[in-house]
Amino acid sequence: MRVIVTGGAGFIGSAVVRHLVIECGYEVLNFDKLTYAGYLPSLRDVEASPLYQFFHADICDASAVQNAIANFRPDRIMHLAAESHVDRSITGAADFVQTNVIGTFTLLEGTRAYWNSLPEPQRSAFRFLHVSTDEVYGSLGEDGLFEETTPYDPSSPYSASKASSDHLAKAWERTYGLPVVVSNCSNNYGPYHFPEKLIPLTILNALSRRPLPVYGKGENIRDWLFVEDHARALDLIAEKGAPGQTYNVGGRNERRNIDVVRTICSILDDLAPGETPYADLISFVTDRPGHDARYAIDATKLESELGWKARENFDSGIRRTVEWYLANEWWWGPLRERYDGERLGTIKPVA
Ligand code: NAD
Repeated sequence: MRVIVTGGAGFIGSAVVRHLVIECGYEVLNFDKLTYAGYLPSLRDVEASPLYQFFHADICDASAVQNAIANFRPDRIMHLAAESHVDRSITGAADFVQTNVIGTFTLLEGTRAYWNSLPEPQRSAFRFLHVSTDEVYGSLGEDGLFEETTPYDPSSPYSASKASSDHLAKAWERTYGLPVVVSNCSNNYGPYHFPEKLIPLTILNALSRRPLPVYGKGENIRDWLFVEDHARALDLIAEKGAPGQTYNVGGRNERRNIDVVRTICSILDDLAPGETPYADLISFVTDRPGHDARYAIDATKLESELGWKARENFDSGIRRTVEWYLANEWWWGPLRERYDGERLGTIKPVA
């Protein structure tokens, strides 16, 4: 099996690459532009493998896309490259429209040309997996879950750009017959998570005794999924998912943001005790504009049709994550040097 993973130097993409190379023994080409969020040390465990190759390019560059696909001749493309941070999309939406919309379009077109040239049975077996987010569905009230049929209602420039890319991917299946499968996932967490996101930011700020910023009153609810469970789900969806179908991926782990932060603090009180409890560092900051109240996924379709189940519950997964950050300063130390760490979404550009 030969797989192109776009965005393989990012948080989820690197987990997917590690999974495919180490667990599945697939040949993988990681196609990544290395924006501020792309960090090759996340691939330390596979970089020496003969199964792994890196291709440094932008998915908006049509000839780079064409060359990579024509030379590597994949059986599957898993598309994760994106601008992914909501706060950044509020202050600079252009990159989100460029990469998430134009980049996805460019990749779909490059894939279509290649797929049209494939003989059977490779043509029928080929899959393009478009990886997206539950944020395209907008916000839930106190009850209910996002299902695959929930109407799109995005709130932020990030989720609007992802929604656009989902529609393009689905249209390429309906119009051209390209075997596209779409996945929409809830919030991921786990090792190798970039320090601007809530969970790693909280861990690393706590360790350096900096304020732990929490938006509003911390009551927004997210449905947390351990990143390795997501990587397994994506492999399964790419392998068994039917073209034209959407699969929601979620861990059934709803938590209020403030409870996530308090849980991290109490794990750190246990593993790396200081003179005062870490929770004393919690600092409530002005809420994000357009902040969705609650996301929660109904993953029944993925569980019942494809047999996937999350292995990690939040309590064990968050402890594993904190332990990983405590043990792996080699990974996050250099990133922290480029980052002021005081606020959410304020990472400095990588030099
Ligand atoms: P990330 O920001 O950690 O990584 C994105 C990767 O894409 C980086 O390696 C970056 O260099 C690369 N990239 C960005 N623009 C590119 C371009 N123009 N050309 C080539 N490469 C480019 O993102 P992530 O958190 O790993 O998310 C991966 C995918 O999963 C995204 O599509 C995101 O929308 C989706 N998703 C993320 C979450 C989450 O909780 N992180 C949840 C659901 C869905």
